[in-house]
Order: sequence, then structure tokens, then C-alpha cells
Amino acid sequence: MEKNILERSLEGVTSVLLLGHIHPDGDCVGTCLALYNYLAEQEPQLAVTLYLDNPAGKFSYLRYFDRIRTEAEPEMRFDLCITMDSSDRERLGRFEPCFAAAGRTLCIDHHRTNRGFAEKNYILPEASSCSEVLYGLLDEEKISRATAECLYTGIIHDTGVFKFSSTSRRTMEIAGRLMERGLDCARIIDDSFYRKTYVQNQLLGRALLESVLFMDGRCVFSAIRQKDLDFYGAGSNDLDGIIDQLRITEGVECAVFIYELAPDEFKVSLRSNEYLDVSRIAAYFGGGGHIHAAGCTMQGTVHDVLNNLSLHIEAQIRAHDGACEAGAADAGQKGPGQA
Ligand code: AMP
Ligand code: MN
Ligand code: MN
Repeated sequence: MEKNILERSLEGVTSVLLLGHIHPDGDCVGTCLALYNYLAEQEPQLAVTLYLDNPAGKFSYLRYFDRIRTEAEPEMRFDLCITMDSSDRERLGRFEPCFAAAGRTLCIDHHRTNRGFAEKNYILPEASSCSEVLYGLLDEEKISRATAECLYTGIIHDTGVFKFSSTSRRTMEIAGRLMERGLDCARIIDDSFYRKTYVQNQLLGRALLESVLFMDGRCVFSAIRQKDLDFYGAGSNDLDGIIDQLRITEGVECAVFIYELAPDEFKVSLRSNEYLDVSRIAAYFGGGGHIHAAGCTMQGTVHDVLNNLSLHIEAQIRAHDGACEAGAADAGQKGPGQA
């Protein structure tokens, strides 16, 4: 059988570096550890290294989580660097120089804004998660329970436990096959996705309490400042899930959540429910993502950030309303029963 892009990339290689994106989410940690586990079992002659930017401790049930390195060794040179779940080079953060210095590069991803920044690129924008993309590159027979647990974690995190519109029949079929490895799915879902510390619940409550509606209730916005994080002794890993709760506010098409990274610098998360393409807005501000979930980093005060974003959100909402009105008028002219 013909070799796939991953198998071809591994030919003649002795050292491999695996990279994800800054502030790695469940899909990023899950996919990177899945490939780490798979290579450790199937290609034991390879020296595999995984660098990730401060992965959240809630993923420590995944095998080899303890082997993740959070600081690069600048003197190391790798024959091959594989990036996973990262939509552009900047998202590699402080590990970007390791990517630049590698002999060969391969990018495995599912972001529609990814233009293919590596030598070889395997990007499936329709896939629910990078774990789903990686699954297609692995030999199904050789996926162990440990690897399956990583892939399953990646899928549940990027699909919001199988509920986002990116969840396809294939996603469910893959999840089903992974379950056959004997995973404790309920525990994985509760422990890594739903469980919150007391402080995380407090921050969620605060973000919801202080959220504001705009565009006649079609958008919702909330912000967490550095001083709030300091007050609770919390970090950015404690803010997962806030944007998802904002998104399901009744009547809301678009949710915006921002938190302060540095004075006058904010990480922006955008979500939409139906017609808004938030990846376009995030890409305009130098970020990226998917139609219904995207992000970027923006400068300025909370008000500057909201004002700049809302111009783009409003423009898309107006264009959508205009298109709907035109459609209704057309239908009216034709009259019922006419094709
Ligand atoms: P988040 O709001 O951080 O959960 O991100 C939502 C989606 O947008 C994820 O698929 C991210 O990978 C992507 N994303 C978030 N921030 C950025 C960024 N600064 N640049 C490119 N993509 C991003
Ligand atoms: Mn991600
Ligand atoms: Mn992803």
C-alpha cells in the first residue's frame, strides 16, 4: 500500500520534534501525545521529543504527559519537526526557532485559516479536530489504548463533547472505534472537560455576571482582567469553558470573551452559532480558527478591543440581514407555489 504523508516524512529520520500551539487546548495536547505514544510504541528506534507551552494538569491522565518538555533546548537540532493543531507559524510561540532549524517540517492540522506554513502540509478543514486528522494517518490496528485515550480526548475537547457542528458521522465513527480500546469515556469527559475547580467556577460566575449584551441581544461580551486572575490566584488555563457558556445564551449569534495577557493586550475568543463567520474576523486581526470558533490577540483597552471587533461583527450581521430581506422579497415576488 502507498505510504501516507506521515510515513513518508519519517523515512530516514532519527530525531523528531513534536510541537503544538501556544496555550494548548485538549485537541492540541491530545493530538501531540497521541503521536508521541504511537511513535514510542511503533518506532522505538526514533528519538521523539515533545515541547508544549504549559499544558494544563487536568490532562495528566494521558500517558507520557510527564515527558512533555516546556522549555526548548536551544542547542538541539531535529531531523523532522511535526506541528499539530497550529494554524500558523506564530502560534508555535517560543518553539518557533526549533521548527525553523529542523531538517524537514510537516504540518498536520484542521484550521481553515491555515495556509500551509511547513514544507509538507496535511490540512483537513472539514475535520472536527486535529486528533481526527491524525487518526487518518495512523495504522488503525496499531492504535493502543493509551494512544486512543489521547485521540479521544482531542476529539471531545474540539467538539464540545460531540455537540459542535464540526462533529460529523466520521467523527462519531472514529470515537466509536477508539471506545473499543476499552476507554473509560465518562471519566475522561468529566475529568478533563466538565470538572472545574472552585476558583474556575468563581471566574466563570464572574464572567457571566459581568457579561453585556449588544447588537440588540444578538451578541454577548465579557472580559477578565489580570487583576481578577491575580485576585483568585488563577491563570489562563482556568478560563476554559467561559466562552462556551456565553455562546449558548438564548438569542445570541456571536459571543466574545477576552482576557488580559499584558497591559493593553488581550487574548480574544470568538464563537458564533449560525451565520457569522468568526474566522474572517479573527484572521483580519492577525488570528485564525474556524467558522464558528476563532481567536486572535488584540491591543488596546477593553473598550478599544470591543469597538474594533463590533464593527466587523455588525457588518456581517447587517450583510446577513440584508441577504435575508432580499431573499424574502424575492420569494414574495414569485408568490407561493412558484419555483
Ligand atoms: P480559542 O478561542 O482560543 O478557544 O480558539 C478558538 C479557535 O481559534 C481554535 O481553533 C484556535 O486554534 C483558534 N485560534 C485562537 N487564537 C488564535 C490565534 N491567535 N491565531 C490563530 N488561531 C487562533
Ligand atoms: Mn487547538
Ligand atoms: Mn483543534
